[in-house]
Amino acid sequence: MFINNGKAAKFMVDSKIKAVHDDDLMNLLISLNIYDDVLNNNCTCYFCGAQINIDNLASIFPHDNEIMFCCDFKKCVFNLISLRNKEDSTHAYA
Ligand SMILES: [Zn+2]
Repeated sequence: MFINNGKAAKFMVDSKIKAVHDDDLMNLLISLNIYDDVLNNNCTCYFCGAQINIDNLASIFPHDNEIMFCCDFKKCVFNLISLRNKEDSTHAYA
């Protein structure tokens, strides 16, 4: 029973974090008018080209005056962080 309780507690914590994250992201998608695009599978990951959906969308970011998408592959999230760090340092030197 101890194992079952542990799993249930972990599941609740995970789903709470996921829910908060999703709400913020959903609101952002709606405010940018790209929520329908994601729902209609019209979006791909900027880094690996995977089709973006609500479940695998990790982040969105502006690039060349367009909204780009990043999926939740670790490699893509890492690339996104590197890209942001690069842009931050560019701004720092500008
Ligand atoms: Zn990707």
